[in-house]
Amino acid sequence: MSRPQAQPAASLFIDGQFVEGEGAALTVRYPFTGQPIAELREASPAQVATACARARAAQPAWAALAPVERGRILARAAAIILERNEELARLETLDTGKPIQETLVADWPSGAAALEYFAGLAATLTGHMIPLGTDWAYTRREPLGVCAGIGAWNYPSQIACWKAAPALVMGNAMVFKPSEETPLGALKLAEILAEAGLPAGIFNVVQGGGQVGAALVADPHVAKVSLTGSVPTGRRVYAAAAEGMRHVTMELGGKSPLIVFDDANLEHAVSAAILANFYSSGQICSNGTRVFLQTGIRDAFLDRLAERVRRVQMGDPLDPATNHGPIINPTQAARIREAIAGGIAAGARLVCGGAGEGAFIPPTVFADASDDMAIARDEIFGPVLTALTFHDESEVITRANSTGFGLAAGVFTRDLTRAHRVIAALEAGTCWINAYNLTPVEMPFGGVKLSGLGRENSAAAIEHYSQLKSVYVGMGGVDAPY
Ligand code: NDP
Repeated sequence: MSRPQAQPAASLFIDGQFVEGEGAALTVRYPFTGQPIAELREASPAQVATACARARAAQPAWAALAPVERGRILARAAAIILERNEELARLETLDTGKPIQETLVADWPSGAAALEYFAGLAATLTGHMIPLGTDWAYTRREPLGVCAGIGAWNYPSQIACWKAAPALVMGNAMVFKPSEETPLGALKLAEILAEAGLPAGIFNVVQGGGQVGAALVADPHVAKVSLTGSVPTGRRVYAAAAEGMRHVTMELGGKSPLIVFDDANLEHAVSAAILANFYSSGQICSNGTRVFLQTGIRDAFLDRLAERVRRVQMGDPLDPATNHGPIINPTQAARIREAIAGGIAAGARLVCGGAGEGAFIPPTVFADASDDMAIARDEIFGPVLTALTFHDESEVITRANSTGFGLAAGVFTRDLTRAHRVIAALEAGTCWINAYNLTPVEMPFGGVKLSGLGRENSAAAIEHYSQLKSVYVGMGGVDAPY
């Protein structure tokens, strides 16, 4: 087998140019084989500072364009992405190890949808006029300036697009740091935006690990930080951003409940549990990893789930037939295996799956688990589903909410009023009824509690990349007491 290669023109993209990093070497590996596919270099502290300074210098002219002109550039970038989707999906598969079957439909296409959506919104972003008798006031919705974007490795290109699209359309500039595990997609986005006509300095990419991210968050030019990552990283980044009173969006982890009532459509609920736990080898923040099954449906559900999971096709991610790929890296695979071993040791019943081999961990289902087991409490970020049994509605609501996380939740039932009642009582930012893990750009996405704050996608995202200026307009004279 020939070794795939994905070497970019250079490691960083600053002020409209590819430039080589001056920091430590960064080898990019294909998760399927562990073989290097690109050799990059991290950004030095001076290069992070340069990227932020150039972004700061370029931003006012970008913000001064008519919104429709900014939107047009984003729309052009979306069209380029869709034209090159096959080539981009292949790169995403090499970077992440996710099956080509997924990257063709989920990753760049979702990024393109964000660019298209915010391009269309551009011309509608206005302030308000506030009548005050003869005087009046108005608000201006203004950009924040330079926004830092920091991404996780599970959806690298989608994350870059979801952050860049609302930021840029509002007239901000962005410096983006992808995860060091998956640095390639953001560079492609920079290249495509430039080709679409984005002025130099408006979208920049720096590479590196946590220290590079920390340098970016602390840069004096940065007005806002949008992070997708784990809760511990979120705490650190939020605290660092507070030093400069910077705005934040935090898209963090979860341990979301998927609640299946006795009256649910069994086949659809099982499909949803598969999508909610095993897509992208389970490396999805919003996964419904605590599957609460009502006593009447439990056995039939677990039997059918085990039967369907046996049909999984693990293997070469570039093979169109593969629907379950490798884990991102050996360290993460070891962590997942530890969680699986912990579940077995704690006495949960392993219905199917298990440790797997090498880079692959098969879809794994635990049943007869209890809420206090680590497999039912901690985010595993791998293909591990924990089934829990419940009797009635109020009990399952209490148990579903007994977690620090609050990213997502799902309910399967045919009872219309119960579906809405239960969803209203669940502490989660993104919910589904008789569906799971669908995140169209039209719908706000984000978490509550430890899972984060702020929203991505939809018009709601604009609020997190803009600030209001209030302007009072005096129409008469001014009286003073002396
Ligand atoms: P991490 O929290 O480890 O890292 C996220 C990003 O933050 C990476 O780019 C990382 O750099 C960077 N980083 C680490 N430390 C710092 C720091 N001190 N200052 C600034 N940046 C820093 O997450 P993972 O990449 O491991 O991703 C998995 C996590 O992301 C899971 O918890 C998952 O739930 C969550 N996630 C949340 C999503 C959401 O939308 N809510 C979506 C996807 C994932 P590097 O890794 O390169 O060292």
